Amino acid sequence: QVVNYAPFTLLPSAVPRALFEQAYAVQEDFNLLVDAISQNKEFLERTLASTIKVDDFTAQLFRIYMQVLEEGLAQSVFLGINRSDYMFDCGVDGTAALKQIEINTIAASFGGLTSRTADVHRLVLKVLGKTEEASHLLPNNPSKGLAFAIAKAWELYGSQSAVVMFLVEEVQRNIFDQRCVEEELWNRNIRVIRRRFRDVFEKGSLDGSRRLDGQEVAVVYYREGYVPQNYDEKNWQARLLLERSRAVKCPDIATQLAGTKKVQQELSLPGTLERLLPGHPEAVTRIRATFAGLYSLDEGEEGDKIAATAIADPDRFVLKPQREGGGNNLYGEELKQVLEKIKDSPERTSYILMDKIKPQPALNYLLRAHSPLQVSECISELGIFGVYVRQGQKMVLNQAAGHLLRTKAIEHADGGVAAGVAVLDTPYLV
Ligand code: ADP
Ligand code: MG
Repeated sequence: QVVNYAPFTLLPSAVPRALFEQAYAVQEDFNLLVDAISQNKEFLERTLASTIKVDDFTAQLFRIYMQVLEEGLAQSVFLGINRSDYMFDCGVDGTAALKQIEINTIAASFGGLTSRTADVHRLVLKVLGKTEEASHLLPNNPSKGLAFAIAKAWELYGSQSAVVMFLVEEVQRNIFDQRCVEEELWNRNIRVIRRRFRDVFEKGSLDGSRRLDGQEVAVVYYREGYVPQNYDEKNWQARLLLERSRAVKCPDIATQLAGTKKVQQELSLPGTLERLLPGHPEAVTRIRATFAGLYSLDEGEEGDKIAATAIADPDRFVLKPQREGGGNNLYGEELKQVLEKIKDSPERTSYILMDKIKPQPALNYLLRAHSPLQVSECISELGIFGVYVRQGQKMVLNQAAGHLLRTKAIEHADGGVAAGVAVLDTPYLV
């Protein structure tokens, strides 16, 4: 019941053009990769085996995954909306390199709001008398790209009267971001409904051919369901019902698992990308070029060694649990304390270690409702939206769908816009 403007930077931030282009160029490869992982039961089973022994949330997702596979999938059309996030790592010689932070395969947000941020910054630059600079800001409309992919999946589902269901939070925090995408669907004469897990639990049902509900649902677009707090027993039951249905899930549970930090770490091992993407050596090279160092903390000699290295030099690393949504990672002194505590226990396995990316800071103003205005040293994170649709074994759509730049003050190690740390920004290519 309280509406605030989304936080944003006063000015656009400089982004190296070559790295921006590199991030766009690798997006279709990442789409292919995520889709390949989601279809590879052997890989998911092996990679997550150690994690699901100690992480209850991943284990519960995995149980549903196995259950729907056993029953056989009713779904034949697959829709992926992901966002691959990067920072610009500053090398010792001062050159910046594109390094992936993570890929989000569920509820990747801010595609809607960021479709408007370039307009804001264009106006600010004009007010400052910088008309020429204003004209250089790129157009960007992820809402359209996301809606285009949802519409494609809806069409292939093949029922004119079926609806798209946005699966949303109990308490609405980012509704306008979702409305931007929703509006694009209404413009295409596709009906959209908004439901919570609880609504699905109370009123949802499957018919004999596993169609969802009286009002048939063609596509379920999750903007919820990525953290343990989203679930109680009833919500888990609702999730299972949705996964068992014929509806196109964005993402299906396999694709959500493909986005775990443990999978990301496994991808960095020699040979893994080649096995997942046979016949795509160039895609493999492009993908690998964006990887930072990632390390397993599984039990054994290797895990012992890297744990000891991180305890001795915590500022080189980030310690990550299998969680999404920002604010979960550990840095510096805290990383050291936690790792010291768990280094000899199986709990260690629920985390991965990653090299810390160190971008070059720049000055900007972060505008946030009810916050004082001050200039801050900031770093930025670039996200590229990717969308794909697969029907059976055939990829019918695979493209990049726009970008997101988020900027935060350097004193915050972690956290995105929703976590109240980063703000919306626009890249100014240099
Ligand atoms: P989440 O799934 O919670 O969003 P991320 O892996 O995206 O987890 O990390 C959250 C935030 O932490 C990122 O947006 C980034 O600001 C910071 N971060 C994550 N990994 C690194 C890293 N390797 N180096 C520096 N900062 C990082
Ligand atoms: Mg993130």
